[in-house]
Amino acid sequence: MNAFIDPFVPAQIGRLMERYGSPLLILDCERVRQQYLALGRALPGVELHYALKPLPHPAVVRALDPLGAKFDLATGGEIALMRGLGIAAARCIHTHPVKRDRDIREALDFGIDTFVVDTAEEISKFVPYRERAGLLIRLSFRSPDAVVDLSRKFGCGPQRVPELLQHAREHGVRVRGLSFHVGSQAIDPAKYVEAIRVCAELCSQAQEDGLGVFDILDIGGGFPVPYRSPESAPAADGQGAVARAVPPIEEFCAPIRAALRALPSQVRIIAEPGRFIVAPAAIGVATVMGRAYREGRWWYYLDDGVYGLYSGKHYEHAVYPIEALNRKGPMQISVLSGPTCDSIDVIDDSIELPDLQIGDCVVGRVMGAYTWATACEFNFFPKPTVVSVNLQPGDEGTVLPIVASNNV
Ligand SMILES: *Cc1c(COP(=O)(O)O)cnc(C)c1O
Repeated sequence: MNAFIDPFVPAQIGRLMERYGSPLLILDCERVRQQYLALGRALPGVELHYALKPLPHPAVVRALDPLGAKFDLATGGEIALMRGLGIAAARCIHTHPVKRDRDIREALDFGIDTFVVDTAEEISKFVPYRERAGLLIRLSFRSPDAVVDLSRKFGCGPQRVPELLQHAREHGVRVRGLSFHVGSQAIDPAKYVEAIRVCAELCSQAQEDGLGVFDILDIGGGFPVPYRSPESAPAADGQGAVARAVPPIEEFCAPIRAALRALPSQVRIIAEPGRFIVAPAAIGVATVMGRAYREGRWWYYLDDGVYGLYSGKHYEHAVYPIEALNRKGPMQISVLSGPTCDSIDVIDDSIELPDLQIGDCVVGRVMGAYTWATACEFNFFPKPTVVSVNLQPGDEGTVLPIVASNNV
């Protein structure tokens, strides 16, 4: 039967666990494609480069490849992944602002020609390769309300752009445009609007000063996803911004679309969405290994925890919707714990669950981004197996080999 299956329904989850064991990250490639297409409709004319960082997995790349997607890479491991899958370098940009010479050479050897810098020293690193590389200057706009403020670590203030352009010109290095990243899981599109406005001004100023004509503006990633259904997500629950309700992407992007219309027509607009593409496309499935009644609460010990898919709990205060699979009954406040012998390995110490038995399954939703990617094998508990489904119609579950790692 060449139909797509829904891997998020209980019967399918049970079937996949029987076949592939536990714990699992179940990735629905059809949902990956739907997310990509939805963002494309919300940002017409913007070239989407999927940022590999939130889920650098071959299944995501293979799902997006036939749609003509482009890719945003930052490391040699990510380059190796693209090489292994036969993705053309012309579809990739390299956006790590801080690079060693060998990182630059690795990317150039693959064939990438667009890079990101944010200091004069970083520009100087391109002098030996100036014939082969065009640069984007990354700007920083502080974003205290983004869950992950990426403008503290990277980017230069807008007022520094003229001197960086001057420096590039003196060294014969070509600057093609500007880039920014408002911060991951951005809550307010006003950040993009303000950044685009400043970039438009810098564009015309550079042209007036004879410092160059930009032809690329990269508006970064950050597009948000709803981590909890709006009815269960009061912003005042103290859980941080990830738990807040977010508008549909079409609505979120409306002011961004309007702001982009003010740019000169020669400027190609690109974006680097990560989380938005993969977060809703995957669920985490774990199994109760044991249980204990302690100080008035049931503790359930899962085979996955904060050193696994739930690593986002600590790195970005993510609050995933969690439910018990196939177990009903009165709900009681319980503790959901990870498997390692470490006391911080607790997923939630106050969660409503039915009475769970050993062998029961627990499902976390919206778990595609910054989960498997940031998991480690602490205590030698292996990372959850990634099972992708719907790579093509009729694909009922595939475990693809990991074609790259940190130490290629
Ligand atoms: C992490 C990152 C992204 C992806 O950000 P999301 O918030 O996941 O969309 C894009 N670009 C750069 C440079 C990044 O570091």
